[in-house]
Amino acid sequence: MQELPVYRVGEGHDTHRTVSGRPLMLGGVHVTAEFGLDGHSDADVLLHAVIDAILGATGQGDIGEWFPNTAAEWKDADSVELLQHVTDSVVKDGWKLENLDCTICAERPRLGEWKPQIRRRLADLLNVSSADINVKAKSGEAVGPVGRGEAITASAVVLMTRMPKDSK
Ligand SMILES: [Zn+2]
Repeated sequence: MQELPVYRVGEGHDTHRTVSGRPLMLGGVHVTAEFGLDGHSDADVLLHAVIDAILGATGQGDIGEWFPNTAAEWKDADSVELLQHVTDSVVKDGWKLENLDCTICAERPRLGEWKPQIRRRLADLLNVSSADINVKAKSGEAVGPVGRGEAITASAVVLMTRMPKDSK
């Protein structure tokens, strides 16, 4: 009998404060804006949500446990490297990403035109086809921290599979 893979979903969510004088990184893409996001690393809010979703699906805690924001090692870290570190580890454990769906909430800049580029970049970084990635963008409807332009948030959901450990 053919063994079925193990299916696991994971979700991730992240928030960063907007701040002037830093580049705005979203999904590993440098998005043109008059401000960036504050944080210990490059504050790529979308990649952080994706990392947490992957760690969630594979039952490995959260991004803060993997990359403590007190660690000098991760100061101004490129979040692409953090993601690579996590994906290398889960691939070694036999996990495969089936699909990623994510949402970025930002009042400014308008992200509609950036979505295709962010989608391609995520597909490259995660070693899957663009068809397995979906990127959604919303405004903050002018209310709350996102709507006032004080923060950008992102959320992500992934489905991961791996063959049961005892099967070959
Ligand atoms: Zn973050």
